[in-house]
Amino acid sequence: MVKFNYYKKKSGNKKYMDNQSYKNCQSCGMPLKRSPNGGGTNVDGTINKMYCIYCYENGQFKHPDWTVVQMQEFVKGKMKAMGFPMSLFATMFVKKIPALQRWIK
Ligand SMILES: [Zn+2]
Repeated sequence: MVKFNYYKKKSGNKKYMDNQSYKNCQSCGMPLKRSPNGGGTNVDGTINKMYCIYCYENGQFKHPDWTVVQMQEFVKGKMKAMGFPMSLFATMFVKKIPALQRWIK
């Protein structure tokens, strides 16, 4: 019999664990390839293929209280720091963030 483990956040009713693999972090949209280890880390130290290490570490979000707008601002700032100008690309990139799994109600 297969055992499924679901970890629930105290306040959340969302599913935080998912066996599905994603190409992009479902919190910030960054390609998971660019995350060290290829993803975030679960409580048991395994790799989480849904979120990147910058968003999700040791089974919890690094910024659990952030709204999607805050995340968008953060990503914009990060892209700027990485050398992306405040371009159409950055704008389009952050526009997709609300459609990611973390933000879908
Ligand atoms: Zn992320």
